[in-house]
Amino acid sequence: MTKTQKSGKHATQLAHSGRDPAGFHGFVNAPLYRGSTVLYPSYDSLLADDQDYSYGRLGTPTVRALQDALAEMEGGHASLLTPSGLSAITTAIVSFVSSGDHILVSDSVYRPTRRFCDTVLSRLGVTTTYYDPLIGAGISELLTERTKLVFTESPGSQTFEIQDIPAIATAAHAVGAEVMMDNTWATPLYFKPFQHGVDVVVHAATKYLVGHADAMLGVITMSESATAPVVKTHDILGLCPGPEDVYLTLRGLRTLDVRLQRHEETGLALAAWLAERPEVSKVIHPARTDHPGHALWKRDFTGASGLFAIVLKPVPRPALAAMLDGLSLFGMGYSWGGYESLILPFDPRGYRSATVWDAEGPSLRLHAGLEDIEDLKADLEAGFRRLSDTR
Ligand SMILES: *Cc1c(COP(=O)(O)O)cnc(C)c1O
Repeated sequence: MTKTQKSGKHATQLAHSGRDPAGFHGFVNAPLYRGSTVLYPSYDSLLADDQDYSYGRLGTPTVRALQDALAEMEGGHASLLTPSGLSAITTAIVSFVSSGDHILVSDSVYRPTRRFCDTVLSRLGVTTTYYDPLIGAGISELLTERTKLVFTESPGSQTFEIQDIPAIATAAHAVGAEVMMDNTWATPLYFKPFQHGVDVVVHAATKYLVGHADAMLGVITMSESATAPVVKTHDILGLCPGPEDVYLTLRGLRTLDVRLQRHEETGLALAAWLAERPEVSKVIHPARTDHPGHALWKRDFTGASGLFAIVLKPVPRPALAAMLDGLSLFGMGYSWGGYESLILPFDPRGYRSATVWDAEGPSLRLHAGLEDIEDLKADLEAGFRRLSDTR
């Protein structure tokens, strides 16, 4: 997909995929089904298990509508839903590993992914090696005959490293390992994992797909060959999301294209403005030419979402607190991808093991919301004034 198609095919897909008005008396949207028991009309039918739906946990028309839409958007074979992004990650990983196996995980992954590997997986006898997200084809040296999968996330959580996914996929497939990717930042719109060699994609739909900070949901999308193990594990683990959250995600999906365009535009404008501020040491945004991963981003992605980071020049803690505490539009809190702007201090130094995070001063992650750009700049500008006044 080329950049000029930003609102092309996928805009139409977003409006039409996963819909079946004729199946619902002409209503535009699939209704919100609540339900556990599904009745069978006869003993024969029960024995043959010949219905589209058999039990609430195994899917409803609302769930299938979203799964179909997401599989189509991402270009995968099938999608499954889980109650959170984290459960999508853990379910996808356990679908492929057994005791004695080894996995490779990017040092820049979402921190709870790492915690899962270091606790549950480790206890079950699966070992994890963390690798430098910039390793590219060099991943070959870390692959062993026991390596079952390579987990990627691009850009990396908080620090936004862009990974050479095709190079990693080529090396992994050469030894029969699966390639998994957390594609939450780019969404199915701006990065097409299956065109870059990924076998299993996970999303925190909680972020941009839901888009309004009012639901939690995870998605796993598989290539054809990776579908069976994930379907089986997902079923056995008994994962099913709340129907309301599924409905809200379907609803959020319809406006994803227009929302993301605004998030991207505002994020880039804020990044450019911040780069000129004397208080800022560095802006970390993959769509800016000064980002170390920009060439890869340009090669593989068709857009940027609204999440990026900055590093401030060194400031005393009370000055940073004065800046953050007085913000009126930027909220401080976890998650992102909603309509509102957010700001969050972070410091990965305490838990990364394959790379060194070298920042001159405090690091801040920003989410550019849908507010007016001038209002957002004014909020930050007043924050910088408080920061300077508190020195
Ligand atoms: C938030 C997030 C998750 C986890 O999603 P939840 O729905 O909060 O469980 C996973 N990966 C990334 C990159 C995230 O930002």
